[in-house]
Amino acid sequence: MAIDWNKPQPAPKALWKLVHTNFPSLRFLGIYNNRNVRGGATPSAHAEGRALDIGILVTIPLEKEIGDGLFKIFIDNATELGIEHAIWNKQIWSTTKGGPRNYKGADPHTNHIHVAFSQATSQTTNFPKTSFAIAAFRSGLDDLKKYRRTVG
Ligand SMILES: [Zn+2]
Repeated sequence: MAIDWNKPQPAPKALWKLVHTNFPSLRFLGIYNNRNVRGGATPSAHAEGRALDIGILVTIPLEKEIGDGLFKIFIDNATELGIEHAIWNKQIWSTTKGGPRNYKGADPHTNHIHVAFSQATSQTTNFPKTSFAIAAFRSGLDDLKKYRRTVG
């Protein structure tokens, strides 16, 4: 059966579910959006429903901490996830050029993490190592918050 690219694909949907379960305060900013890359003429991965935008603000210290941690987890588990490129806070990582390195696109991505899957990997929904890493990161942050409350 041919894949319908005019809708959200399974991988970004599964990744959002995973992130949202662990960090319910983060915002879903969309998967499918038939548009070009901001300030460019090439279609965005969103135009095929294979990119996820997770709303996180670098201006809120705890959110920046979460964003930095998730960005690292996505990069560390890029093979399992099948990530083509990820952008967060003026940094980009991609399968073709590695990273993280400076991102100079029109949108600095200081209010969301963008995660794009390739066409081939966008149909996968099973990420056991990434699931564990995100849960471990979340419980580590919970412990840290408790500790900070204890020491004042
Ligand atoms: Zn995006």
